[in-house]
Amino acid sequence: MKTQLELARDGVITEPMKEAAVYDDVCPEFIRDGIAKGTIVIYGNPNRKATVIGIGKGLKTKVNASIGTSPDIIDHDMEVEKAKVAEKSGADTLMELSTGGDLKAIRTRVLDAINLTVGTVPLYQAAIETINQKGSVVHMDADFLFDVIEQQAEEGIGFMAIHCGINLTTLERLKRQGYRYGGLVSRGGSFLTAWMNHNKKENPLYDQIDRLIDIMKKHDVILSLGNGLRAGAIHDSTDRAQIQELIMNSEIAEYAQKKGVQIIVEGPGHIPIDEIEANVIIQKRLSNNAPFYMLGPITTDVAPGYDHISSAIGAAISSSHGADFICYVTPPEHLALPKPDDVREGVMAAKVAAHVGDMVKLKDKARDMDLKMGIARRDLDWKTQYETAITAERAKEIRGDRPPMETDTCTMCGKFCSLKTVSKYYEEDLANSKKRDYAAATAE
Ligand code: SF4
Repeated sequence: MKTQLELARDGVITEPMKEAAVYDDVCPEFIRDGIAKGTIVIYGNPNRKATVIGIGKGLKTKVNASIGTSPDIIDHDMEVEKAKVAEKSGADTLMELSTGGDLKAIRTRVLDAINLTVGTVPLYQAAIETINQKGSVVHMDADFLFDVIEQQAEEGIGFMAIHCGINLTTLERLKRQGYRYGGLVSRGGSFLTAWMNHNKKENPLYDQIDRLIDIMKKHDVILSLGNGLRAGAIHDSTDRAQIQELIMNSEIAEYAQKKGVQIIVEGPGHIPIDEIEANVIIQKRLSNNAPFYMLGPITTDVAPGYDHISSAIGAAISSSHGADFICYVTPPEHLALPKPDDVREGVMAAKVAAHVGDMVKLKDKARDMDLKMGIARRDLDWKTQYETAITAERAKEIRGDRPPMETDTCTMCGKFCSLKTVSKYYEEDLANSKKRDYAAATAE
């Protein structure tokens, strides 16, 4: 079986490419050409039917929602509910990142419950099952790790975050710079660091890269090169260890693409806003413009409880500079396992951020929605406002909770509605002249 990347290089337009084109309102040739160049990826695993979306250059910024149990809270029903809430709220993909309970059982339920493309970190399962059976991750068998990757690919996982770039060279950089102010926050990164340090061996995901590529290729799984050394604190951002891992990941990206595997490169983490542009430029430059998956980024360390906001600020700036895919952050980040309501808040914040970034990245194509909304607000056209809003459900909830006395206004100003007041005076003037409406604006 050829991967979507190999078929694109052959000039073929596949059904998934057509579906991704519809999702983003572009032509299928655009999707095919982006895949062939390695700047766009699409879901291609034939083992599960899922909504196909494209991630990459020239497309809308996509939002991922991550869910999953922890060792402390194992509630399968709640995780299924979170997955459904994420899909309903408009997440483009879902990562199932359970680390507590029966990992395969919960993953199976989530895969059955939603239509989104699902991603995983297979290392979690391999490490946790090893810890459960042998007491420590350092006893993890490389063959077992590859077996888990293959098993998850067979289940229809669309993309896998795999930490190939955290290797002995990367760890040497970390050691020489004197570790980290904020420690290592990537669970995958910490498992592999412990394994490599204890066993004095190279990361098998780096050492046996061809074995990994063979599995990804066989099932057309998108290889999302994980950021195991992402900064978990602002004062670690863009440090030598992070950049070293990015260099490794970019080399692997080029190699895997040549072999026909679709690639995403992951980025940090915690970054102050004045370093975000540099991070996007460096990633794009080193990886030949491979799709960039930004994890947040969280832009300050001092807002626990509101990290969906600190990360939305980072996500909007990342997207505006060219990041293609952002992972949401929920309000309980750094504090607790999210609940379904937290998932909704996280998805909505990330979707707003993605759109704000797209208004810069895609210009009029994204700003058209804002034009429609501006006119609908001016005309007190609530139906169009709801149809245009990416946050329509919440907007309806709020307005419905506090209904106005004059139904075309809202309870903010009531009968003193400034839009209504002004429109009275312009009605006559504009009746026989050109009114700035949607058709006029888009014709200009
Ligand atoms: S009442 Fe005030 S806030 Fe509400 S629509 Fe009119 S101008 Fe806007």
